[in-house]
Amino acid sequence: MANVVIIGGGAAGCFCAAILSELHPGWPVSVLEAGPRLMAKLSVTGGGRCNLTNSFAALCPDSPADLKRVSVKTLEQVYPRGAALMKRALSSFSQWDCCKWFEDHGVELVVQDDRCVFPRSQDAMQIVRTLERQMRLGGVRIRCRHKVSSIGADLLIMPGELKPDAVVLTTGGGTAGILRDTGIELVPPVPSLFTFKVGDDGLRSLMGTVVEDAALSIAGTRFHSSGTLLLTDWGVSGPATLRLSSYAARYLAENQYKATLLINWLNCSEGEVSAWLEVMSGGARLIANCHHPLLSDRLWRHLLGRAGIRNDCRWSELGSKGRSRLISVLTADSYPLTGRAAFKEEFVTCGGVALSEVDPSSMQSRKVPGLYFAGEVLDIDAVTGGFNLQAAWSTAWVAAHAIAQSLS
Ligand SMILES: Cc1cc2nc3c(=O)[nH]c(=O)nc-3n(C[C@H](O)[C@H](O)[C@H](O)COP(=O)(O)OP(=O)(O)OC[C@H]3O[C@@H](n4cnc5c(N)ncnc54)[C@H](O)[C@@H]3O)c2cc1C
Repeated sequence: MANVVIIGGGAAGCFCAAILSELHPGWPVSVLEAGPRLMAKLSVTGGGRCNLTNSFAALCPDSPADLKRVSVKTLEQVYPRGAALMKRALSSFSQWDCCKWFEDHGVELVVQDDRCVFPRSQDAMQIVRTLERQMRLGGVRIRCRHKVSSIGADLLIMPGELKPDAVVLTTGGGTAGILRDTGIELVPPVPSLFTFKVGDDGLRSLMGTVVEDAALSIAGTRFHSSGTLLLTDWGVSGPATLRLSSYAARYLAENQYKATLLINWLNCSEGEVSAWLEVMSGGARLIANCHHPLLSDRLWRHLLGRAGIRNDCRWSELGSKGRSRLISVLTADSYPLTGRAAFKEEFVTCGGVALSEVDPSSMQSRKVPGLYFAGEVLDIDAVTGGFNLQAAWSTAWVAAHAIAQSLS
């Protein structure tokens, strides 16, 4: 009988314990959790509804179930860090395996139009209770208020206690420092998934404006994203912003969150905008009164101001200089990015255990035999949409199966 200790009772730790308890119901498996209760964060995910995975259909529209045909480069659109490892982990435990596991354990699921998967109950506590029930049935020992302060290369968790046969570290983002005595390489943690503060009063005065399909980029870099953009009283938010914050998380941290944000308000090329202006040009109507159908009246007037076009200017008076200024503002409007703001505390950490330290077929440490990793403690993180929890489920499943196999 193997003795397994899981450090961290979050999504990854509890799922790992649940899987181990199914594979080997008699094994002594313990979960050590620093907080007063298990899965506190999981219980508030997805605004309390728990977006537990994603259909990934946006990445493979022709064959939604088949991630094998998706390249690592494509997977980087959702896993900016850890895509190669995730491709492998998903081939062992995919998004559909995740859905099946929870459905087999009595959780009905719904796939929304935006491809996010939630419990039909819309209640994250149903996911928490399901994992708790499986751990209870499998005899997993739970010890809350039990913070582990360091792990040595000998895997001794507490002096005087039985040395475990395997330890799984699932302590979440920003906690990998617990490994400082092992010599395992750690990637410094920085936040991901945040909104941007923008130093422009004009833009902030448009608070509440939604642009359905804008493209964002950071000047002088390859980082870009597209999607819905929300203007706030501090700057910009919405899916396009969160995605860009994830792609550029490390770059922005290194630059103290100071950069130039470029907004393409119509997510169109200069040629496409020019063709639209061609259609509008020449008429006697006021430019200010004929906004592009995808932009609000208020935003249009703001953009005309930035292009130096007066409110009483008519299309026939625009001229080639005004026209090129307007094209430039519509496709590459630039604003100073002055800092980051939290997204309702819904952020993840990029950084953690360097993936070069981990055998992807087992999640076992290459340096410390018997030490396994799962979840956000690894240098894996994703954009929003259920991908972060899928990383926790997949890596925990791989670790549990590898332990079960190696210790049987
Ligand atoms: C508000 C919010 C909403 C989110 N919503 C979603 C969503 O809908 N979908 C999605 O995919 N992702 C979401 N995420 C991200 C997702 O919650 C995380 O990626 C996921 O919880 C990571 O799981 P984990 O088990 O690795 O870490 P965690 O869930 O953070 O669990 C780690 C556990 O380890 C414990 N611990 C830490 N240090 C020690 C120690 N030294 N000793 C013992 N125990 C320790 C912690 O107390 C914690 O319970 C959300 C995140 C937040 C903050």
